[in-house]
Amino acid sequence: MNVSAEVCPVCSGTGWKAGADRRVTRCDCRMKQKGEALLASARIPKRYEHCELSNFEFDGPHRNLASARMAACKFVEEYPVEDTGLLLIGSIGVGKTHLAVGIIKELIVSKGIPCLFYDYRELLKQIQNSYNDSVMATELDVLRPVFETEVLVLDELGAVKPTEWVWDTVSLILNTRYNDNRTTIITTNYPDDVAADAPGRSEFARAQRAARAETLGDRIGERMRSRLHEMCRIIKMEGSDFRQTFKSASFR
Ligand SMILES: [Zn+2]
Repeated sequence: MNVSAEVCPVCSGTGWKAGADRRVTRCDCRMKQKGEALLASARIPKRYEHCELSNFEFDGPHRNLASARMAACKFVEEYPVEDTGLLLIGSIGVGKTHLAVGIIKELIVSKGIPCLFYDYRELLKQIQNSYNDSVMATELDVLRPVFETEVLVLDELGAVKPTEWVWDTVSLILNTRYNDNRTTIITTNYPDDVAADAPGRSEFARAQRAARAETLGDRIGERMRSRLHEMCRIIKMEGSDFRQTFKSASFR
């Protein structure tokens, strides 16, 4: 007998199964199919495809990261009852992207939540490309999924040299998601600190600007930094290699 591997043995492909109490419910195979489809369209980059919460390292030299992983697991468990986003802050290589990808994969697979991953630099590049007449996609074509997906990962926030256009675009994205009550998970290398030219900063502080490492306030503007505080819980990820923190200052 040749039984096709495609047909679910539990529901014979109907998508419905009868429980012991004879109540008919959705078969698990449909959840699995939905999860697979969502995962395939979540735009998770190849190099992060293997990332799971279960294979995130937090032992030995990474023991500082145990609390970050715990917060990530708690987030998945409580979502969507608790839907405040996360702002993962830490130096390059500490595993922020791994954790962010692990969270959305778990939301997709275990809860069937539509999620999308975007690299901040890549997204801004795509939006800029849409202004080119030879490109068919409009700005809104690029932005619509970013606005509308239930959970968005915005990776490497602040990694593009700030200009007025960059600030306007970040504001549009964050404000739209904020106003629509959507959950955003953000990673950044920049410390969560005020901009050098923020109001109230002393002349001395401004003069120090060149000498100090850039902050999130410098890179996305103070207004958006405080917006993030309303949208996200902050998770600081400190790895074992503190030298990296200072290297990140020269990162584009
Ligand atoms: Zn089934």
